[in-house]
Parts: sequence; structure tokens; C-alpha cells
Amino acid sequence: MKLIDGKAVAAEVELETKARIDALKARGITPGLAVVLIGEDPASQAYVRNKDKTCAALGMHSRKIELPASTSQEEVLNLVTELNADPAIHGILVQSPPPKHIDEHAVTIAIDPRKDVDGFHPVNVAKLAMEDPTAFVPCTPLGCQRLLIAAGIETSGAEVVVVGRSLIVGKPMALLLMARNNGGKGGDATVTIAHSRTKDLAAVTRRADIVIAAIGRPKSLGADHIKEGAVVIDVGINRVADPSTKSGYRLVGDIDFDAVAPKCSAITPVPGGVGPMTIAMLMSNTVTACERLTA
Ligand code: NDP
Repeated sequence: MKLIDGKAVAAEVELETKARIDALKARGITPGLAVVLIGEDPASQAYVRNKDKTCAALGMHSRKIELPASTSQEEVLNLVTELNADPAIHGILVQSPPPKHIDEHAVTIAIDPRKDVDGFHPVNVAKLAMEDPTAFVPCTPLGCQRLLIAAGIETSGAEVVVVGRSLIVGKPMALLLMARNNGGKGGDATVTIAHSRTKDLAAVTRRADIVIAAIGRPKSLGADHIKEGAVVIDVGINRVADPSTKSGYRLVGDIDFDAVAPKCSAITPVPGGVGPMTIAMLMSNTVTACERLTA
């Protein structure tokens, strides 16, 4: 069984990104990312801190905007309008989920699609479905695809089952892997999407050469769900209580790792698998946005 090291692949992606940042800086341009956090959700605060730290480490300009949970919809939309017009900002991200009174869709469609480095704007969703190479693709599925490529896993003709149909992970993951790839890597798969209404999930996932789990519940998939020799990508990030740790919790994925790992040919750990890739792809998308906006 091969453990797919997300930290190592993320470091490779960041090296490539750094070289592109250096080339922009030689032209007097610094890529800038604005990350907006509304409210005090601790998991979101941790993600935003990480994004800010990675920007700084790569020499990018980063604007972390923390707003109280009481911020109105209008204030958020005004901020997005301001960031759309700000020439120092090339990527805009509003951390999900916002407080309940904020209409997340309205905020997403207010972001200039050229600065939509999360790839959630309908223009980018459509471009991905249309296999337009100028699409901004959501960072987590993009990171999963890159992990498969880096681990030398053939997707062309492979049976892939994606468990989860969210717009952030499941749907774009399926679109990426089924895309015509003209001999390239990370596409041309035969993709099935499963979700909470799927009948006999284990029978569906056992068919797969590659299983991608984006469910949001620990131990959702066990040994019975996985074919001998399959590749497993675990997107899940779940906090479970663990009194033996300082924080009182630890992070686990959606896969019952100990049960599944012995059957797999390759598997991602949690943490240290998909998580670091998401941030690395966000930085890469931001640099792409900057390159395009300043071309
Ligand atoms: P959502 O809650 O939006 O989607 C979860 C999906 O799983 C839904 O489609 C749901 O089905 C499906 N599902 C739920 N229960 C079952 C079940 N018992 N059997 C089969 N399918 C089921 O979550 P996200 O896509 O946003 O995130 C998924 C996981 O990935 C979470 O743990 C999240 O924290 C993590 N994540 C990790 C990231 C990273 O950087 N590594 C980034 C983003 C997310 P239905 O549609 O029918 O409700």
C-alpha cells in the first residue's frame, strides 16, 4: 500500500507557483488574494489563517478581512464590489459557510468571475462543464486530480466513484475526471457519483478502481466498500473528540483508514492528504488570475 503524501505534492505545486510569482515580480506585479471571513467559526478561522500564512510564505500580497457575524448582506456585497475594483487584488474568496442571514449564492455571483479563484461563480462552473481551459476550478477537486497525477495513477478508462455531490467537491471532481483529456492525465475516467440516496453504496463503490470520498462523516466507508487494490482519496475533514490531544479533538477523514488501507494500492491520509493540496491549488489559481488580469 502506498501512502499518497499530500504535503510533498503541495510543496512541489508551491515551488512551481513561487517561480511564477517571481516572474510576475520581475514585471513589478505582486499577486494579491483577499480572504473574507464573516463570523467566528473556529474551523473557518483556522482555514483562513492557513491561507494567509501560505500567501506570506510565497511572497504574495494577502488581505485578510475579518467581519463580525452581525455584518449585513449589503455590507458584504459592498466589500466584494470594492475588492472587484481593487487592482492589488487578483483573487477573492469568501470563506464558507457564512452566517445564516447571508445569501451565499448572491455573494458568489457578485464576485468578478476573473477573480473567482474558488471557482464557484456560475461562469466558472459552466466553463468547467464545457471543458473550457480558462475555467477556475474549485481548489479541492483540482488538488485531488493533481494528487492522482503525481502518484502516477492512470485515470483514463478507470472506473471512478465520487461519493458526494456538492458544488465544492463532488460535482467538480466528477467533471474534471470525466473531461476529455486528449492523451493528458487526470481525465477520461468513467465516473459515477454517489450520495445519501444511493442504494447499496458498498456495491457501487466496490466497482471502483478509484474511490473519492467527500461526505463529511467519519468512517463512512469501510473495508466492505473498497475493492482489493483500489486507490482511495479521502477528502473528508471531521473533528472527533480525543481527550489525549491538547485541543481535545483530532481530525479524521471519511474513510475508516485502518480498515481500508490494507486493501488499497494507494490512499491519502487525513491530515496530510487532500488538505494541503487545497491551499496549494488556491495559491496557484490566484497566480493564474493575476497573470491573466495583468497580461
Ligand atoms: P456537503 O455536506 O456539501 O456534501 C456531502 C455529500 O455527501 C452530499 O452530497 C451528501 O449527499 C453525501 N452524503 C452524506 N451522507 C452520505 C452517506 N451516508 N452516503 C453517501 N453519501 C452521503 O460536504 P462538502 O462536499 O462540502 O464536504 C465533504 C467533506 O469534505 C467534509 O468533511 C468537508 O469538511 C471536507 N472538505 C475538505 C476539504 C479539504 O480541503 N480537504 C475542502 C472542502 C471540504 P446528499 O447530497 O444526498 O445530501
